[in-house]
This record gives sequence, structure tokens and C-alpha cells, in this order.
Amino acid sequence: MLDGPAGLLHHRWRKGKNDKGDGMADLREMAWQRIPEHGDPQDWISGNFQRWELNTSDLAARRGIDNRFATADELRSAVHLCREVMQPVREKFGRYSPNSVYRSQALERALKNKPASWISHSQHTLGQACDIEVHSATNLRLARWIAEHLRFDQLILECYSAEAGPYSGWVHVSLKPPGQGRNRAEVLSYVRDPATGRYVYVNGLVESPPAP
Ligand SMILES: [Zn+2]
Repeated sequence: MLDGPAGLLHHRWRKGKNDKGDGMADLREMAWQRIPEHGDPQDWISGNFQRWELNTSDLAARRGIDNRFATADELRSAVHLCREVMQPVREKFGRYSPNSVYRSQALERALKNKPASWISHSQHTLGQACDIEVHSATNLRLARWIAEHLRFDQLILECYSAEAGPYSGWVHVSLKPPGQGRNRAEVLSYVRDPATGRYVYVNGLVESPPAP
């Protein structure tokens, strides 16, 4: 066990940090509504996930884009999502880190090549959505398991096609925390429309048809 709280690695981090008088906190038992806005990136916020995993981004790092949480609300929504979706997936499918959870407006604009005036309405900007993949199952199998076992607002199998390989695409899952509106339990796929070659949303979990 390398990543768990009882692991040696964990113990070493804690010791090193404590030497400087600060350090990571174990927030796993703390109600999501009370998680402090600022803290150590290595704070444990669920059984197997740490604070940094909720807003890390390669693109933000490469381009120097600020992807800190806008307010505590987005962070707390992400913690709620982590505990209700990411953690059960971890327990079923094994170790992984999410591709993307929170995305600031600046990161959304960079990602989608939009002008400074554009506002993203993606649930990623609210901390209410994650993009995940696991090593032990295809994205289709992962999405089917989530559809059957977890609560969510939208579950979207994105860009999955057998032609591109069983691990193509990713799974987008959103969940609104209590007080933020009804969770719709929508199941969709984002697939290539063979007629136009463009990607479209369709109902259910389906793979992209092969290219003509
Ligand atoms: Zn997404």
C-alpha cells in the first residue's frame, strides 16, 4: 500500500512538513461544507484523494494559468464530488488520478480557444464535474458501472470508439451537492456523427461508429 494514510510515504510527508510547523491535514472526516478554502495541497480530503488532485492541470502549469479555486464553494463542491463519485470508483477499479476536476474560467478559455469575454457554463467551473479514466477497465465499462451504482447529474461517455481502442476517450461525471439543484441522472455519449463527421451528444452509452 503506497498511497494510503497508513503507508510509509504518508508518514514521511507528515514528518517533513511538521518540522516546519505546517503541513498536510487529514480532512477525511470533516463535512464537505466545512473544508477550509486554503490548505496544504497534500491534505487528504477522501480515503485516497488529496486536495491537489481537485485542481491540478497540465495545461494550466504549462501556460502559467491560475487554476486556484475561485471561492470555497467550488472547492467544497469538488470535495463532495470526490467523495461521492471519485472515491467509490477508486474502491471498485483501483488506483487512478482524475484527468480534470475544477477548471477556472481562464483555463476553460485556454482549453477551448475562446476570447477573454467568453464565459464557460461547464460544470467543471463549479467544481461539480470530473473527467476520469481507470487502468483496469475500458471507459465503456467504467461508465456502465457508474450508471448502475452511483448518483450523478450527468454521466457522459466522451469520444469513446472501439476503432480508436478500448481505452479511447474518457468519462465525464457531474454531481451537484445538496442545495445546488436537482441531479438529473442523465446518461449521454459524445460520439462522431457518421453523416457529418462532427461530434454530437446522443442518449445512452454508445461508442463512436467507425470512420467511413
Ligand atoms: Zn468533463
